Amino acid sequence: MDEHSPEVMTAIQATIMASDLCQRVRKDLAGRDLILKGDRSPVTIADFGSQAIICKVIKDKFPNDIIIGEEDSTELREPTHSKILGQVAHYVGDLIAGASPERVCSWIDYSSHTLQKRFWTLDPIDGTKGFLRGDQYAIALAIIEEGEVKLGLMACPNLYVDKDQPQGKRGCLFLAVKGKGSFQMDLQGGNKQPLSVSKTEAPAEALFTESVEPDHADHLFHQRLARTLSIVKPSLRMDSQAKYGIVARGEATLYLRVPSPSEPSYKENIWDHAAGSIVAEEAGGKVTDTLGTPLDFSSGVKMEKNHGILVTNGILHDVVLKALKM
Ligand code: AMP
Ligand code: MG
Repeated sequence: MDEHSPEVMTAIQATIMASDLCQRVRKDLAGRDLILKGDRSPVTIADFGSQAIICKVIKDKFPNDIIIGEEDSTELREPTHSKILGQVAHYVGDLIAGASPERVCSWIDYSSHTLQKRFWTLDPIDGTKGFLRGDQYAIALAIIEEGEVKLGLMACPNLYVDKDQPQGKRGCLFLAVKGKGSFQMDLQGGNKQPLSVSKTEAPAEALFTESVEPDHADHLFHQRLARTLSIVKPSLRMDSQAKYGIVARGEATLYLRVPSPSEPSYKENIWDHAAGSIVAEEAGGKVTDTLGTPLDFSSGVKMEKNHGILVTNGILHDVVLKALKM
């Protein structure tokens, strides 16, 4: 696969359309209408709309491909949610002709949870809580073949383009193809810039990033680890896989994700890490779990063989792994 492969062109097109939908929903409704899923996590019109668009665009080009996406239409089809379904169909219909409620549900359900040798992973909105707060979120799409991520795309509509101007222009599209490097573009797919991780060798100078949500990572443990490493800068808290993007572009040196004490044996979902991990690795970074084990993209939807996540600029990986064991 290279940057001109049909998979890459299709993935770019699909993610750009989905990010367009997410921004419109955010602007019109501030994400107000949502459904609480069985695990109490929120899902919005934009999550469903983004998944419908991306699944439809991929299936049109690759009818035999498997897509492992986060959402399904079960709750959306419930009569109590008919207004939300109508809104999903309305927003999708602005971008794809003929988007009826029934069709939109069937596009969402192109996604399954049965892994094969080659499959796509899709998080239609990673960081839904960030999306609802008006903070960071990402549309994350990847291809996995034989357990290895080959392609990763992340659209981050609310992320500042220039790391030196956090108040400046927003909207980034990250792209990485295995063996071909990692890039940042604008949300139209233009202004393509190669990315590389920070060259920081001294742990004390590192900037680390972590989740905003205290239930998603152990902030106190991260603080203690930072002290052990003599890190002085306060952490950069950010929602979603955008964290992988800011490591890839050399803005943060480390991304720490030690499981939160509220759920110490939490198993990560493949769609929460596939796209981000290749974006960081192809920029020269290293990604493992907190024990140094490579990420497991072949056991199932859950990364059963892993415990937390560690992303570094590569140079500091072993030092941080050692500190994690202390
Ligand atoms: P972040 O924005 O980095 O905090 O990560 C958002 C993702 O965290 C969501 O997509 C969820 O799948 C995932 N998540 C949900 N519960 C947990 C948990 N207890 N520990 C770690 N991640 C979680
Ligand atoms: Mg997610």
